[in-house]
Amino acid sequence: MPKYVYEFSEGSKEEKDLLGGKGANLAEMTRLGLPVPPGFTVTTEACRRYLADGVVPPELRVQVTRALRALEDRVGRQLGDPQDPLLVSVRSGAKFSMPGMMETVLNIGLNDVSVRGLAGVSGDERFAWDSYRRLIAMFGKTVLGIDDALFVEAMDSMKRSRGVTQDVDLGANDLEELVEVYKKVVHQETGRSFPQQPREQLDLAMNAVFDSWNTERARLYRRRERIPDDLGTAVNVCTMVFGNLGPDSGTGVCFTRDPATGRQGVYGDYLPNAQGEDVVAGIRNTLTLADLAERDPKSARQLYAVMRRLETHYRDLCDIEFTIERGKLWMLQTRVGKRTAAAAFRIAAQLVDEQLITMDEALQRVTGDQLARLMFPQFDRSAARTRLATGLAASPGAAVGEAVFDSATAVARHAAGDSVILVRRETNPDDLEGMIAAAGVLTSRGGKTSHAAVVARGMGRTCVCGAEAIDVDAAARTARVGDIVVNEGDVIAIDGSTGEVFLGDVPVMTSPVATYLEEGLDAALTGADEETAELVQAVHRVLTHADSTRRLGVRANADTGEDAARARRLGAEGIGLCRTEHMFLGDRRALVERLILADSAAARASALEALMPQQRGDFVELLEAMDGLPVTIRLLDPPLHEFLPDRTELSVRVAVARERGEDTAADETLLAAVERLHESNPMLGLRGVRLGLVVPGLFAMQVRAIAEAAAERIKAGGDPQVEIMVPLVGSVMELHLIRDETDGVLAEVAERENVTLDIPVGTMIELPRAALTAGRIAEAADFFSFGTNDLTQTAWGFSRDDVEAAFFAAYLDKGVFTVSPFETLDAIGVGRLVRIAVEEGRRARPGLKMGVCGEHGGDPESVHFFHEAELDYVSCSPFRIPVARLEAGRAAGAYDDTAAGLAGAR
Ligand code: PEP
Ligand code: MG
Repeated sequence: MPKYVYEFSEGSKEEKDLLGGKGANLAEMTRLGLPVPPGFTVTTEACRRYLADGVVPPELRVQVTRALRALEDRVGRQLGDPQDPLLVSVRSGAKFSMPGMMETVLNIGLNDVSVRGLAGVSGDERFAWDSYRRLIAMFGKTVLGIDDALFVEAMDSMKRSRGVTQDVDLGANDLEELVEVYKKVVHQETGRSFPQQPREQLDLAMNAVFDSWNTERARLYRRRERIPDDLGTAVNVCTMVFGNLGPDSGTGVCFTRDPATGRQGVYGDYLPNAQGEDVVAGIRNTLTLADLAERDPKSARQLYAVMRRLETHYRDLCDIEFTIERGKLWMLQTRVGKRTAAAAFRIAAQLVDEQLITMDEALQRVTGDQLARLMFPQFDRSAARTRLATGLAASPGAAVGEAVFDSATAVARHAAGDSVILVRRETNPDDLEGMIAAAGVLTSRGGKTSHAAVVARGMGRTCVCGAEAIDVDAAARTARVGDIVVNEGDVIAIDGSTGEVFLGDVPVMTSPVATYLEEGLDAALTGADEETAELVQAVHRVLTHADSTRRLGVRANADTGEDAARARRLGAEGIGLCRTEHMFLGDRRALVERLILADSAAARASALEALMPQQRGDFVELLEAMDGLPVTIRLLDPPLHEFLPDRTELSVRVAVARERGEDTAADETLLAAVERLHESNPMLGLRGVRLGLVVPGLFAMQVRAIAEAAAERIKAGGDPQVEIMVPLVGSVMELHLIRDETDGVLAEVAERENVTLDIPVGTMIELPRAALTAGRIAEAADFFSFGTNDLTQTAWGFSRDDVEAAFFAAYLDKGVFTVSPFETLDAIGVGRLVRIAVEEGRRARPGLKMGVCGEHGGDPESVHFFHEAELDYVSCSPFRIPVARLEAGRAAGAYDDTAAGLAGAR
């Protein structure tokens, strides 16, 4: 028979899968001998069986009976006893905390008879009736599905009739009367009476907790938090202790350190004469722990001792709930507490200094996301601010600017030197230029994976999305919140770390962590206050340790000398992807146009000749900025029509000019080229290596520019470590053909310039066929770099620009994804292709160097995947470099509690 029920004394904190977080930690505290009210936990396995079968497993009923009887024997009271009843709470508790998502019922065991017994033993009639009315309301709402408003309304009308405003001003008789009203509500709404049998109350409450796993809001929460749907919740049945038994009773929550700043000390709120939910509901102002120490020194001393014990035991910040019942302290819950990003780093460093954890463990106590949060500029919280609305914190940062309502205006104003916030109902790919120009993006619709959110995060732009209180009217160029109207040009401020939107300017400060990362420790510490200095030092220590731990190299995706220099300051060990197409825009677009329109070999050669020196100049700059470190330059990837004017605009221009009888010859030639190069699916068309094979001289020109740039750097005494990368290869034959040409050009330049050019030629693996034939492709490749952006597109058959805005939100809602596969690598699908290519590539060519340069290279979870897949490096945007360094360190050092023999240590 499976064991479905564990007494608190039987479990431990390692058993969160089975007992849920709350149950496992209650068991741990019991094992430590702390004052936990006795009880038992029904396992997540029982929940899963119940949810699968629709009925409670019969063994569960039996096991609950036995555990309940044991509990009754231990405390010497029985559930429903008319004289001295045992009362229990029934609480949910899943493996991962889902605050407020599932159900709790308190005071189980009260009925029309035992309520009088409780009044007798407690000597407090008011307390007994208050407890009973709380049970009926909670049970009514949670178990019987009655609208809570009916109970609230009954309570309000009772208060009105007695002429009081506070619940606490109602007397025992009032509450006894209220119980009758509540019972009538139950009867009216369900057609049956409030169950008087305590065991029936208990069984129904347990089922309700199981059922609450699958409520709409719980499912939604899990999808958002990426908690698997099939875990189920445990149920904790615990002896009730009461904080509402008079002035020497009370309830509170506390932390062993400040979860906001990490400051050492004990922090907490205490509410005398109250039950747990009163603290959360904020019905009265709470007292501090120091106040508690004055009122009840004995309990406070005991509490401090427990806090120290728990922190020593968990070796981390603990978050604790406690109740004092007539001067006796009880521990109701503990867990490793949530904390802000700054606190996470500071606490990790503090615990190392206190010799409670090792540096390896400290590395596991912080995340790349937390580091990223610390890098963004911050609003000065001390400044006066007018909050307009709160949306979703989609992409962190603090941005201030004039509101604009379309992409073109954003671009124009930005060009004129203004800072703008692009405000849209939602964005689409046409808004891209405006998003690039804007300091921040604000939308009134869409979730965290809406187009705006995904694109903004990708380029590190601050974004608040789904601020539904804001009514955006792009045609009228206004945004309204109630009576407040924001017109084009009005200044607004958005906080992408909190989702807040403010009217008017809010001062922004550079984050000290960003200063540290870009300019070094001394710059960040100059003039810093003590707390800031501690934070910066903590980040420095943890990141330095990550660097010494990681196996993965970290490179940057950078196309300019400036970006490369910045990336280097941020810790990049080279460039993993230089996209050369960005070098063909701006003024040079005309030269590319000439190349495309060339109607003879001579014309083509002359266009290429004109482009060559410019390319060479770009590469010299890049190689100089990354001197001594590898620089991977990718040959041209996008389809040529991206360098030509828009087809529709050009057709209109030609038609209008013809109408006016103007000379249209040049435009007609251009239009013909645009028509010729038009593709229905450019992503799958003439691009990458295919271009290199059909546009004569194009790749050769780029290779010559690279070779000459390297030669120039060598002659200048530099140490260029350039690598050439061929995009979109699907067949080894493509690579052979390009290599033949490339090797020829390299040899020619080396001879002419009289230098040794040792330039590896490798390929991107960004098509499924490339991954599946990696063993063959490896014959012609000196290295592989996984282009996981295209690999994701082609493995899924998604065109990113089309699908993200169109239906990703729906896919997330329906649970097809828990996160966009463009953000976090789809390890089981796309990742499988990566693993195949790694294995077959290295089998064919042992030691073959492999990296990744898709956006996933800077995503924490994906970095762990690439570490495990045994790549040599990840390459990502410069501003993600510190995140990748940290996560690569965490992946290499993944610390196993059990291995260190610390698991379950007492
Ligand atoms: C990729 O496909 O992952 C890649 C890096 O190339 P791009 O994003 O330029 O297509
Ligand atoms: Mg690509």
